[in-house]
Amino acid sequence: MNAHAPLPPAPAEGCGVSVRQERGQRAVFCGLTGIVWLHRKIQDAFFLVVGSRTCAHLIQSAAGVMIFAEPRFATAIIDERDLAGLADMNEELDRVVSRLIERRPDIRLLFLVGSCPSEVIKLDLSRAASRLTRRLGPGVRVLNYSGSGIETTFTQGEDACLAALVPEMPREAPNAPPALLLVGALADVVEDQFLRLFADLGVGPVHVLPARRADALPPVGPNTTYLLAQPFLADTARALESRGATRLAAPFPLGVEGTTGWLKAAADAFLVPQARFSAVTAPGIARAEQALAPHRARLAGKRVFFFPDSQLEVPLARFLAREMGMAIAEVGTPYLHRAHLADELALLPAATRVVEGQSLDAQMDRARAARPDLTVCGLGLANPFEAEGLATKWSIELLFTPIQGYDQAGDLAELFARPLLRRARLEV
Ligand code: SF4
Repeated sequence: MNAHAPLPPAPAEGCGVSVRQERGQRAVFCGLTGIVWLHRKIQDAFFLVVGSRTCAHLIQSAAGVMIFAEPRFATAIIDERDLAGLADMNEELDRVVSRLIERRPDIRLLFLVGSCPSEVIKLDLSRAASRLTRRLGPGVRVLNYSGSGIETTFTQGEDACLAALVPEMPREAPNAPPALLLVGALADVVEDQFLRLFADLGVGPVHVLPARRADALPPVGPNTTYLLAQPFLADTARALESRGATRLAAPFPLGVEGTTGWLKAAADAFLVPQARFSAVTAPGIARAEQALAPHRARLAGKRVFFFPDSQLEVPLARFLAREMGMAIAEVGTPYLHRAHLADELALLPAATRVVEGQSLDAQMDRARAARPDLTVCGLGLANPFEAEGLATKWSIELLFTPIQGYDQAGDLAELFARPLLRRARLEV
């Protein structure tokens, strides 16, 4: 297919939503980006990227606004000598890690994070992690995962990190009562709100992955049902299921409808009566509806085009279409997990065009032809589109901002309304 040709008609899927795949040049961040929110979430973990100066710059600039006096991430630089095979990378890595642990005795969990350069030189970080765990344990555990741009996009770094934690989770006790596991990094304030709602519903015990402390990993086993809080956790889900856990099918907790559906999946699994569910959720729904109303006035009838970036695109499109009255020009997503997103796809308006993967030039041409009112895309595409007169929203903001749950629904809508407001002001 010519990269610039319009898409041929796609076979229908689900409720009239068409999903087609595209392959070609991509423009997405790599999985290292996840460190920016994960290092804030797991408070005694440290992320050591084994990579190049480019990797160090990416992390520094992505986290630029959040540098603390003692940041909990760093890069062990692979330089030319290492690439030429003149140095023993394993010895160097052990030296760097020993120095780090001496200087930072508060570290309980150390992630060695692979990158493109460490993959190119085939540095075996899983062996390095086992070796270092033997040397530094039991006080410090060393795990590894890949954030390389060759293997991962933007949010898959979190998936790889959480999947690395699953084998470390303790086995649930024999005859343990049914437990609910919330899976996916949420801002602490959002996590606390959900835990309060589950307590009010009488659902429990409820555990979270990732836990805020490395030594508080939740138990897992056949009596665990889990609820994904993020749509990009395919490997983590697979790892949990290999430990006996069962996924609850649900939409994702974005907007009123998604949050209610997500809570309801757990409530039904724990046999919560409908009357209690309605009573517990009614105040949150009312607050969210009130917060959404002014943004609906600005967003209704506008057209939005999603470039593939965060894997949040399908639930966001569902929220914008159904709760904000927006029209969907296209929903690009880097990867679409058909089972995890089944409830979301069923809620999208019929004939919504969902494109999995990316062929960058072809997609940019479609966006230009569509002239959407709002384009949701990565940082690299936003500037050229703004210069062409298209209003844009950086998709990375949707990961750095608390957006899940009833009390964040207004903030979520505002993220999309703000660029339109700014453009309207500029035009005036
Ligand atoms: Fe670039 Fe690869 Fe390093 Fe990511 S991991 S910053 S894509 S070199």
